[in-house]
Amino acid sequence: MDDLETAIPSATGRCLCGAVRIELAEVRPQVEVCHCSMCRQWGGAPFMGVSAASFDIAGQDKVTAHRSSEWAERGFCQVCGSNLYYRFLPADHYSFCAGLFDFGETVSMTKQIFVDEKPAFYDFAQDTPMQTAREVIAEAAAAGFSLPEQADRK
Ligand SMILES: [Zn+2]
Ligand SMILES: [Zn+2]
Repeated sequence: MDDLETAIPSATGRCLCGAVRIELAEVRPQVEVCHCSMCRQWGGAPFMGVSAASFDIAGQDKVTAHRSSEWAERGFCQVCGSNLYYRFLPADHYSFCAGLFDFGETVSMTKQIFVDEKPAFYDFAQDTPMQTAREVIAEAAAAGFSLPEQADRK
């Protein structure tokens, strides 16, 4: 898997209050941005996620996982409210909030999804591949996951 050749060996993140700490191993140096309405409502801004080969969460008893749809749950610190991760349940895949970690210049924004739900008041300067809701759902279907037609059920 070529991702591992460029992976960041480890990264430590924490919520705003420090009750939850997340250790990632073999981090993909790629930040994926989701502009969908649910992510923006959840975080007040687009979601920026990173993934890793493995992880460990300390302070799990302070984490609340909100089941935001039949496909996903979203974790946050119940003390300070920091968002922690988006978990895609069919694949048990976690995408961690990039802002919890001090990545410096080791990661780059490499993809933006649900671009057709992005409001007009912001745009990122990075020139990345972009996918609409329809394209994301088609890609998931090709990978064997049947997602709902409506993007708002993501
Ligand atoms: Zn916290
Ligand atoms: Zn989203």
